[in-house]
Amino acid sequence: MARIVQKFGGTSVATTERIKEITRRIQAEVDAGNQVAVVISAMAGATDDLVKLSESVSALYDAREYDVVVSTGEQVSAGLLALALRARGIDARSWLGWQVPIHTDGYHGKAQITKIETAELERRLADGQVPVISGFQGLGPDNRITTLGRGSSDISAVALAAALNADRCDIFTDVDGVFTADPRIVAKARKIDKISYEEMLETASGGARVIETRAVEMAMKHGVRLHVLSSFVDAPGTLIVDEGEIVEQEVVSGIAYSRDEAKITLTHVADRPGIAAAIFGPLAEANINVDMIVQNVSADGSITDLTFTVTNADLDRAAKVLEERREQLGYQDLISDPDVVKISVIGVGMRSHAGVAQRMFQALAEEGINIQVISTSEIKISVLIAEEYTDSALRCLHAAYGLDAA
Ligand code: ASP
Ligand code: MG
Repeated sequence: MARIVQKFGGTSVATTERIKEITRRIQAEVDAGNQVAVVISAMAGATDDLVKLSESVSALYDAREYDVVVSTGEQVSAGLLALALRARGIDARSWLGWQVPIHTDGYHGKAQITKIETAELERRLADGQVPVISGFQGLGPDNRITTLGRGSSDISAVALAAALNADRCDIFTDVDGVFTADPRIVAKARKIDKISYEEMLETASGGARVIETRAVEMAMKHGVRLHVLSSFVDAPGTLIVDEGEIVEQEVVSGIAYSRDEAKITLTHVADRPGIAAAIFGPLAEANINVDMIVQNVSADGSITDLTFTVTNADLDRAAKVLEERREQLGYQDLISDPDVVKISVIGVGMRSHAGVAQRMFQALAEEGINIQVISTSEIKISVLIAEEYTDSALRCLHAAYGLDAA
């Protein structure tokens, strides 16, 4: 007997037809003799509508009441799913965050789970009952309803799996799993059977949105085995597990990309101690995240160009912060370019293999693609290129690392 947490996202509970459909998947685990706890999202689009409702009454809404309104999406879907399960003869009961309770801190609208009381859930599970738990919500220190931030029902599921010591946490969504590259661009992309937490985190930061990044971090911290799969097809998805569980490790497991990058170059910056702090300090104060950075030393060692990237949304703000300090920083020009993309090759095998970066540079060179910025971590190499080359870069790299499906 295993204990499994099954989480169903918005598209998996989008209609009452879909809700009836997923009872089949819950039934399969119950019939196999497993203990099952279910976590659900609101029906697709429901939370967006609730946010709009709340904003239409008060643009500068009160966060406590906002949470009361937007958390109701998950109350509806939990109740409907419990109804559908009971109609099927499965002993199921819905649970709101406060009923469990799932305790959180007091940051309404973006609360963090602090503790989950599991005694009652444990008792129900032992009795063979299926708890259907509302994701996205909890109970704050002031005894009021909190929500955990948009997209956070994955976090509810992983936190519950950790607290219940579940053998596995199944995340049902509308994609088949994690792919070696975006299948909409790379026709030869393959579904990955197993990927490590760390690779998954790098893939997500590269822009692939299959599961909420904070949920993967939490799963890694607590050793929760994750299984990401589609509720629309009957096929195994991708297991996200500890590196040690992966026997046949590829050197590179996937290629990710992020179009949400914009490049800023400051020309003729003085090459002196403190200049980087003077530039990046004000950006950090303005809450602007800087991703890739390159700085060169010019021939005479006194003047240099500095290039870095921010998200597209932050580009104008970042430019403004730096324009305001032009005198003090003493640069000549500020050149910004939003039409860039970051391409990353990811794999824990890089730690023990040489030549991985060279293969990337070679493949891009053969396609005539110019590399503007390079950055690396232990298990990732990223390059910044012109956005127009996104598709050809992904395809040539996918082939270069032997990832193409036969
Ligand atoms: N329903 C919430 C949202 O749309 C939480 C989630 O679905 O993960 O953000
Ligand atoms: Mg989601």
